[in-house]
Amino acid sequence: TPTTEIPNIELTYDDLEETDVFAGLELSASSDIDVPPNLIDQVIGQEHAVEVIRKAAVQRRHVMMIGTPGTGKSMLAKAMAELLPKEELQDIMVYPNPEDNNNPIIRTVPAGRGKQIVNAHKVEARKKIQMRSTLVMLLIIGIIGYAIITYQWLLGIIAAAFVFMALKYSMPREEAMVPKLLISHDSNTMAPFIDATGSHAGALLGDVRHDPFQSGGLETPSHDRVEGGAIHRAHGGVLFIDEINTLTPHSQQNLLTALQEGTFPITGQSERSSGAMVRTEPVPCRFVMIAAGNLDAIQGMHPALRSRIRGYGYEVYMRETMEDTQENRKKFLRFIAQEVKNDGKIPHFDRSAMIEVLREARRRSNRKGHLTLKLRDMGGLIRVAGDLARQEGTEFTSVKHVLAAKSASRSIEDQISDEYIRRSRDYDLAVVEGTRVGRVNGLAVMGSDSGSVLPVMAEWTPRQGEDGTVVATGMLQDIAKESIMNVSAFIKKFTGKDVREMDIHVQFIGTYGGVEGDSASVTVATAVISAIENIPVRQDVAMTGSLSVRGDVLPIGGVTYKIEAAAKAGIKTVIIPRSNLDDVLIEDRYREMVEILPVDHIKEVLQNALVPENREGFISKLRKMAVNPTGIFDPN
Ligand code: ADP
Repeated sequence: TPTTEIPNIELTYDDLEETDVFAGLELSASSDIDVPPNLIDQVIGQEHAVEVIRKAAVQRRHVMMIGTPGTGKSMLAKAMAELLPKEELQDIMVYPNPEDNNNPIIRTVPAGRGKQIVNAHKVEARKKIQMRSTLVMLLIIGIIGYAIITYQWLLGIIAAAFVFMALKYSMPREEAMVPKLLISHDSNTMAPFIDATGSHAGALLGDVRHDPFQSGGLETPSHDRVEGGAIHRAHGGVLFIDEINTLTPHSQQNLLTALQEGTFPITGQSERSSGAMVRTEPVPCRFVMIAAGNLDAIQGMHPALRSRIRGYGYEVYMRETMEDTQENRKKFLRFIAQEVKNDGKIPHFDRSAMIEVLREARRRSNRKGHLTLKLRDMGGLIRVAGDLARQEGTEFTSVKHVLAAKSASRSIEDQISDEYIRRSRDYDLAVVEGTRVGRVNGLAVMGSDSGSVLPVMAEWTPRQGEDGTVVATGMLQDIAKESIMNVSAFIKKFTGKDVREMDIHVQFIGTYGGVEGDSASVTVATAVISAIENIPVRQDVAMTGSLSVRGDVLPIGGVTYKIEAAAKAGIKTVIIPRSNLDDVLIEDRYREMVEILPVDHIKEVLQNALVPENREGFISKLRKMAVNPTGIFDPN
């Protein structure tokens, strides 16, 4: 049996009580909570971002928001549009240019006037056309009358046809002189909020449509083919672009020009279209830009564009969690009320349901004493729970609906992971009992909320080349190499063997998504030591943790999901970094299934995972070893 010198820790699961959530609040359901009318006041947990948006709205500054999806970036951008003054809005019109057909004229008028002007022009044109057709009708009647009287039939018909043709072709000419309303506003709407995420060049910068006829009186006049882009529609308001790095460099360059000039002429975006010949006068596009994305958005972004935003605006990092305080829980309750109200179809949440949502928010935060701010997902959960309640026809959504929603609205990764566990059982890929040499059950996280058991196998041979190598596939090479380097000192001390004298092969079994960060380094180190020393590893143990060069086990992410995955797979003991102990928020049903073993040092991992059999020597060495205050082992 393995040596378990560390006493098992009684994990304390601090549960949410009614009093924690509703202290001092007199409410029986989320319908009793007031929802503020302004969007900016509905944002929770991102106080710093709210402050920046308020400031930026007054001064019309650009903002870059970096952070995880679903934390409220587009919501804040919309809120900013609400805050911008609407007096400054303008309508933009295109007029034909009699001097140069390919260079339509651009004019701006105060918001609301554009429609009136265009209507006036249309009425005018119609009047002219009517007058002309009346005149022509009279002429034709006259000609026909003359022909009847004088019997000159042929002349009559030719003359009538001639007059008719003249009329037909002069009509479109009149209509062609009517200006086109490019961008229009109602005089009392709020400043525009334009989401240009993922737009191609034409949609972003405006375009001139192709004209298939181009001549012969059938052509559409060029000013009529001009279409405004998102940057023009955002004139006077907010242009929001999420995943800013996915815009082509060309579009980013043009966006920068638009930002600098405050105007951008519209031209046909496709080279071979007749639209490419047309280029309007500069079209105003003074907007506030809100660029968003996750961290790699910064890398993919045009440096000049980024520096423009930074020089003339703010950069904000969105929070992923907020502290689990009384005040924040109250805000979270308001969030539930908001989501229910905004959905408009689902029943409000009763007290039990609200507590359960808060519990889930704690769990998803992945951090002790915090609530998640990935609120789009939480909103999804609220809507699914509400739908279930509505199906049942109950007055309120209650705890059972929230629980059912939790199991119904699992992420794709979580479902894949379950399927994978099921399948690997069929093929005996998952070994969760007995012992094996050089095989260790590690733990990984897929997506953001789904754990999986990730076995690691190791084998070694005397080195073939000048130096020993570490062989692993793909991106795992780096992780494997690093964890082996980190434990090489340790290995040398306790096995007397030098990893540089060996070729070490490491395999991560059944991984298709890769392993994140270095949370597999404890696993790799254990597998390698087991292989080198030929000591079997307990297979009912799974482990996760990062390693320092001194063998300290350092904290990792996603510990809750990893433990749950281990429990589902049938693992009995999970070794985790002690510093992660506070992040463990596993669901009730898993608590009985696994024992959690917090450790500080790789030596404790080995003591618990390796099975001595007839290898007393190594294990007794391990047992004797003590960590001195500097953290360096004394093998004697
Ligand atoms: P992002 O743009 O960061 O991906 P969104 O702003 O589109 O996220 O958020 C989606 C929805 O989630 C919002 O419409 C809102 O209902 C909810 N939500 C997200 N973050 C917050 C927040 N901080 N406060 C209140 N609701 C939020």
